[in-house]
Amino acid sequence: MTNMSKTALVTGGSRGIGRAIALALAEVADKVAIFYAGNQAAAEDTVKALEARGAQALAIQCDVSDETAVKAAVNQVREAFGPVHILVNNAGITKDGLTLRMSAADFEKVVSVNLNGAFHMISACYRDLMKAGWGRILNISSVSGLMGNPGQANYAAAKAGMIGLTKTIARELASRGVTVNAICPGFIETDMTASMNQETLDQAVKNVPLGRLGTAQDIASAAGFLCSDQANYITGAVLQVDGGMYM
Ligand code: NAD
Repeated sequence: MTNMSKTALVTGGSRGIGRAIALALAEVADKVAIFYAGNQAAAEDTVKALEARGAQALAIQCDVSDETAVKAAVNQVREAFGPVHILVNNAGITKDGLTLRMSAADFEKVVSVNLNGAFHMISACYRDLMKAGWGRILNISSVSGLMGNPGQANYAAAKAGMIGLTKTIARELASRGVTVNAICPGFIETDMTASMNQETLDQAVKNVPLGRLGTAQDIASAAGFLCSDQANYITGAVLQVDGGMYM
């Protein structure tokens, strides 16, 4: 479907990995919408960068954990750009703490953004994807969801849940020409890892065979591929982009 006009939608597209993915998708879609949580200046900056790459672009503030808000925001995208063909569930948060001290509220909050958010987005786009006969869903999970990680019971559970979600929707939509995959990033240099102290980061790098932290672009390159026609025969895949950390 190389010549088809396509709309891509990336959650958490204002900064970090989501921004890099949105920019990569400007190569495969002519219209790119991003959802962001609160940083309007960063969202507007991403819109300008997308337009500079020749895409029509739109940023909408939308909390992905709020089902009603998601429905309304996806409708806004549909009105402006038509049906969504490429959905990237990238929005995510952490609220780390050892399980002994983790509140139920912090557990639920992380699951509700990372996992429920992806479900709300998929539900809101599902019919459009089914009807188009071509589509892509890409879920940004984490190596934490594969390996577990002390202090991340909430995050690892949510990210592991995204893998089950990916494989189920992949099976549901396969006959409609829609592929559904997940990427598991390792340690990537973004705002999310900027708060970690140097000692923890040095320790993390020791566990990475390729010997460095990843970049948002490392994830975006894989995302651009999985969302392109080059990846037509890949569905239900869980791709680690982690410098070999989990193997
Ligand atoms: P980041 O904190 O820099 O960006 C997160 C993005 O999510 C922001 O754009 C923010 O606006 C958005 N967001 C947060 N809560 C939201 C909500 N409720 N509704 C809508 N948007 C919301 O993080 P990042 O490092 O770029 O991470 C992006 C994704 O990659 C996340 O899902 C994260 O879990 C995952 N990931 C990151 C790493 C890493 O090392 N940085 C590793 C593995 C997985």
